[in-house]
Amino acid sequence: MKKHNFYAGPAILPEYTVDQVIQACRDFDGMGLGIMEISHRSKEFTAVMEQAQQLFKDLLGIPEGYHVLFLGGGASTQFTVIPMNLMQKKSAYLNTGAWATKAIKEAKLYGEVDVVASSEDSNFNYIPKDYVIPADADYFHITTNNTIYGTEIKEDMDSPVPVVADMSSDILSRPVDVSKYALIYGGAQKNLAPAGVAFVIVREDVLGKVDRKIPTIFNYRTHIDKGSMFNTPPVLPVFAALQTLIWIRDNGGVEAMQKRNREKSSMLYEEIERNKLFKPTVTVEEDRSVMNVCWVMNEEYADHEKPFLEFATERGMIGIKGHRSVGGFRASLYNALAPESVKALIAVMQEYEKNV
Ligand SMILES: *Cc1c(COP(=O)(O)O)cnc(C)c1O
Repeated sequence: MKKHNFYAGPAILPEYTVDQVIQACRDFDGMGLGIMEISHRSKEFTAVMEQAQQLFKDLLGIPEGYHVLFLGGGASTQFTVIPMNLMQKKSAYLNTGAWATKAIKEAKLYGEVDVVASSEDSNFNYIPKDYVIPADADYFHITTNNTIYGTEIKEDMDSPVPVVADMSSDILSRPVDVSKYALIYGGAQKNLAPAGVAFVIVREDVLGKVDRKIPTIFNYRTHIDKGSMFNTPPVLPVFAALQTLIWIRDNGGVEAMQKRNREKSSMLYEEIERNKLFKPTVTVEEDRSVMNVCWVMNEEYADHEKPFLEFATERGMIGIKGHRSVGGFRASLYNALAPESVKALIAVMQEYEKNV
């Protein structure tokens, strides 16, 4: 039976990426050696790193003055590295979920943190809209897609101070006006590559403004100066990221990804609204994530939660159990997920409904 992979992360990757990785593990670039077993300083791997950085720039239309880095560790490492590099005195954060909360905790180690707004009062099921970004903050941090709660900031905002965005789970899912951000980062394991690497897109002019001593390995300058090859980068995840970037390019770029992702998520939200058993957890339509769709049982059908999960799992729907802090269900519809998988999930929802 075909398995449909709705896991939130690590998550589905394009078949193309997986095939290329398997091939490269045995024989990379016709070298007769596997990619995991060669020097990261070889001309063959150096080319992989350079191509991945360039293609990232091409696909997102990253302007001059920005650097693309692939760094070991995950998005959580960046929670601490960002304030270390960017915060002299004060930063501002929008609290839209568990990841933002963790980022705020780390920032507090380095200075004053102004949490401008939070949706915690409502278990993070909406994006706060009325807040003021303090003009004296060194930067303003947002999480564009809240993987756990299924909310998303889909507009690139204007801000009086540099914007820093955690785009772990919506990077390359849509076009982004990179010029509106000072720094964009994320773990690779949602929409790009296997776990182990984080991407960081950073604008030159926000660096070098803090007085503190930054450990060499955590200083963005170190990695910029060395082309993201200061130490051994996570070679296999970087290779995989390059394959996913190639796949995105060959499939119409981020505009085509956005179109396909919107179609997938609209289909599923429509079914959740229509189906008598279910309701979405995010009631404000414009806040609904295109990547992670969350829903719960309507109260009168609460008893059906477990049986539906079993029913769906038996039919090949994998990874749809909601995060423990939200409950219910979550289907992650990352770039690599085919519309057919969403259609299959909807068919299962309808089939179950008929038997109730
Ligand atoms: C998964 C996720 C993280 C954490 O990523 P790690 O690479 O595991 O540290 C951070 N932010 C968001 C939005 C995520 O989805």
